Amino acid sequence: MTEQIQKLFKNLQKNKMQPLYAETKEDAVKLAKDMLFDGAVITWGGSMSVIECGIDKLLRDEKYCFMDRSRAGITPEEQQECFKAAIGADFFFCSTNAITEDGELLNVDGFANRISSIAFGPKKVVMIVGINKIVPDLKSAFLRVKKIAAPKNCVRLGIDNPCAKLGHCVSLLNNPDPDFADGCQKDTRICCDYLVSALQRQKDRITIILVNESLGY
Ligand code: SF4
Repeated sequence: MTEQIQKLFKNLQKNKMQPLYAETKEDAVKLAKDMLFDGAVITWGGSMSVIECGIDKLLRDEKYCFMDRSRAGITPEEQQECFKAAIGADFFFCSTNAITEDGELLNVDGFANRISSIAFGPKKVVMIVGINKIVPDLKSAFLRVKKIAAPKNCVRLGIDNPCAKLGHCVSLLNNPDPDFADGCQKDTRICCDYLVSALQRQKDRITIILVNESLGY
């Protein structure tokens, strides 16, 4: 484990979040599996990091009650039900847009369904996080969203926002230090609501499985 990761883990513990280390994606699956129990009600945030580890396949095991917002053929109404079910779920799986060395998490949503579950509701939040998401501070975390996470997610989701073509937020064209509300004005904007998870009241409700590989955006 590098000095940077040791510092990160110490600060996550200080912020009452539980850090777990996985050397590989396969190790991450094992750690996730160990937390689950038969009949567990599980929802998730449709995360690429979860998919790249194959943890979504684990969650689909019939011994769990997986409310899959991303399943093929799901209707908008059924998807809304999945979002609502998250509030009483046993587990919510997702990643984070960035994690600071000081042990803070930054997450940014268009609809706030993911950040609402991170902040409140599910008994346990499990984040699958690649080492590529570690940044020095919150300013870098914000810029990571504007330069990496938002553009790549727009491309992945087929959303025609300016960052999908530019490779970074349009707000950065003339300003290296944009504000939260800067950027495109489109109805399809995906960075509308910002959540910083810092020192938690509920110890270890949030578990971060840090994988020593690059995952997601
Ligand atoms: S404000 Fe618009 S252009 Fe900028 S990152 Fe968000 S979605 Fe992309």
